[in-house]
Amino acid sequence: IENPVNASLLSDLDRQHVFHPFTALGSHERDGAPIVMTHAEGVMMHDSQGRDYIDAMAGLWCVNVGYGREEIANAMRDQAMELSYCHAFSSMASDKPAILAGRLIEMAPVPMSKVFFGNSGSDANDTQAKLVWYYNNVRGKPAKKKIIARQRGYHGVTVMSAGMTGLPGLHAGFDLPLSFIKHTMAPHRLWEGHGLSDAEFVAKLVDDLEQLIAREGADTIGAMIMEPVMGAGGVIVPPQGYYEAIQSVLDRHDILLIADEVICGFGRLGSMFGCQAMGMKPDLITVAKGLTSAYFPLSACMVSDKVWQVLVAGGDRFGAFGHGYTYSSHPVGAAAALASLDLLEKENLVEQAGRRGEHLHRRLQAAFADHPLVGEIRGFGLIGAIELVADRDAPKAFDPALKVAPRIVSAARDRGIISRALPASDSLAFSPPFVITEAQIDRVVEGVREAVDEVA
Ligand code: PLP
Repeated sequence: IENPVNASLLSDLDRQHVFHPFTALGSHERDGAPIVMTHAEGVMMHDSQGRDYIDAMAGLWCVNVGYGREEIANAMRDQAMELSYCHAFSSMASDKPAILAGRLIEMAPVPMSKVFFGNSGSDANDTQAKLVWYYNNVRGKPAKKKIIARQRGYHGVTVMSAGMTGLPGLHAGFDLPLSFIKHTMAPHRLWEGHGLSDAEFVAKLVDDLEQLIAREGADTIGAMIMEPVMGAGGVIVPPQGYYEAIQSVLDRHDILLIADEVICGFGRLGSMFGCQAMGMKPDLITVAKGLTSAYFPLSACMVSDKVWQVLVAGGDRFGAFGHGYTYSSHPVGAAAALASLDLLEKENLVEQAGRRGEHLHRRLQAAFADHPLVGEIRGFGLIGAIELVADRDAPKAFDPALKVAPRIVSAARDRGIISRALPASDSLAFSPPFVITEAQIDRVVEGVREAVDEVA
């Protein structure tokens, strides 16, 4: 096969040989017409047909500093020439991961003690679950193993992380053998708290959690995992007082809190971490995506001293800690992360994300607040969503078979706007790179408004 290949051969090769994630396999193989992207800079992507797009999703909520940043590319190149790889098993080490770990500990939203590097949000959340199990074994509480997650939560697709994910589409067809993962209600105002005050809604959510803990027994539950603002489940922002109330339940029952900051971490909510915006005080924090702005697959589990001291004590019983990846502490990934963090700081991009977010929410309100098919407009910082409904007064969702949101996404893409249909409902999400301009946000909202009117 020659290289470069022409656009139609490329499309055929993709259809015939690439097994796409989160894709209807049969229809893609039969008649899929993938849009083949060839280059990108800032917030703009360009395809093999010469069409331009504003990427209003920053890839998959991850290209926070934007595409084509020379500083990150150069840091990765330099690192690859200097030391392309060094593992971290049995006390081997290299400089960049050590510097990055130190920087993450300094930045952490609550005091943290150690950083464990992985490759993706999914494997990092798997690591977190294993840390919780190990922690409770060392403490002599081997029954305390169940993990609570939330309906609509997204934590990844490895076996454990898919189990913690509360989206039925990620469980369909797999029969994940994970009965020790329990889901509680999501703070989704439209479907779970319609017509309730914040205080009433928080009381309902806390009650659901308390009942779950009572049913299972607190002595069987090790941790609860939560995204500060839930991303793929619908960009769900909890009501005032929610985390404070949940945290006090967890503390009372000796249940650890894992904050999944894979989307919220590194500025998405207009503060460096989602925990700061939401007032969460976790024992364990997961980060990925924005850590390198997706220039390299790198994740990290931050571990509090309370957990770390117990893990260390486990050495007497279990020997060397039996967990780690070939690519844990990858020096090129760490170099990419350091360069991305430098850009965030030098260009004040976290603050900018907050300001651009305010503009996005103003524009979404102006375009959709009175729209008869928009049931809710949600968001915080530079992340937002609109939820389309068949009836906004009842409220009533569209029949999923109508595929309203995916059709709108496709109509918006025809207008040069990349947004995303979320799996649990007819929500359209927006999570652009922090370098998006106000004028580009205006174009995104206009294009999506036209697409909604065309389809719905
Ligand atoms: N956690 C959250 C909150 C996510 O949004 C994602 C991915 O979207 C993950 C975990 C999984 O990350 P990855 O796709 O890198 O495995």
